[in-house]
Amino acid sequence: MTNSIPLVDLHAAHAEIAEEVRAGFDAVLASGAYVKGPEVAAFEREYAAFSGAGHAVGTANGTDALEMALRALELAPGGGVVLPANTFVATAEAVVRAGLRPVLVDVDEEHLLIDVAQAADRVPTSVALLPVHLNGQLAPMEHLLEAADGLPVVEDGAQSQGATRHGRPSGSWGRISATSFYPGKNLGAYGDAGAVVTDDAALAEAVRLLGDHGSARKYVHERFGFNSRMDALQAVVLRAKLRRLPAWNEARRAAAERYDKLLGGLDGITLPRTLPGNAHVWHLYAVRVDRGRDGVLAALQQAGIGAGVHYPVPVHLQPAFRHLGHGAGAFPVTERAAGQLLTLPLFPQLTEGQQHRVAEALAAALRRR
Ligand SMILES: *Cc1c(COP(=O)(O)O)cnc(C)c1O
Repeated sequence: MTNSIPLVDLHAAHAEIAEEVRAGFDAVLASGAYVKGPEVAAFEREYAAFSGAGHAVGTANGTDALEMALRALELAPGGGVVLPANTFVATAEAVVRAGLRPVLVDVDEEHLLIDVAQAADRVPTSVALLPVHLNGQLAPMEHLLEAADGLPVVEDGAQSQGATRHGRPSGSWGRISATSFYPGKNLGAYGDAGAVVTDDAALAEAVRLLGDHGSARKYVHERFGFNSRMDALQAVVLRAKLRRLPAWNEARRAAAERYDKLLGGLDGITLPRTLPGNAHVWHLYAVRVDRGRDGVLAALQQAGIGAGVHYPVPVHLQPAFRHLGHGAGAFPVTERAAGQLLTLPLFPQLTEGQQHRVAEALAAALRRR
């Protein structure tokens, strides 16, 4: 449909940086340094500073970044890692791939962030906490750090580049943090990429080794690793976008406020809420529909509005995680949310006019339920 409104408009973002990216690509192509190299090193410095951390290490994607962050900590094999059931499946995948055991807990009803009391209950029998900064806002990190009682806290910051809590950025709270630059994230590459961020130089070095075949010097393999490095072309894109990210996140915030006003009067939906103390970066703007969500979703898509659901089936009910042994009803808040959430289009270049159209289509769909 020509007049449709996408969930995320990656073309619109590219239009703003196209010239810079072409010039950067030309320079990389001429240099012959296609994996790691000076562009990646420059991005790592810039992203570490942006995250308020001493070190950033580029990786091939966000799932690898999470896995390497966990591996770098050298936790007891098979140890439990506490994470919220309401997350993208990659958070749990990374735990399993790191030789550890996902310990799922539910989320709080209002913000759908990891439930601190439930996490605290699991601390005595676990080896790490892995909160997720869902949809662009930080988990209640000061409470989680306290609940962790000395266990390392690893942040999943894939959805929160530029978000802060009490002024402290995503990536600066945990012992080590991971993020994803998948194209649809707030800071998105033109392919897969990710990063690990930490203040700890030894952990950063361990991640660098792990992602480069366990090697710091050519053909000397100090530890068992694998291949997860950032491409120089992705670093070109990420450097250009990082310069715009504060303004883009500000534009997302303005769009979220406009949705709050446009949708505030509609019956049958609950608007997303920001945890006090958070500066939200609105990776996703997801409302909850009290009944008939799937029909509303279909009506919006019919009207050319790229609405979505994040996530329709929680991690513990996925066939791949059946071995964890949780049936339906194990995490009621997560499961109820999975049946009600509806993500609306939101990206920095979204116009007020487009938002009016989304609001009108949503109101019509709710009336027709
Ligand atoms: C996107 C995402 C990841 C994984 O990132 P990839 O780059 O796709 O591997 C991990 N956790 C969360 C919460 C995500 O949204």
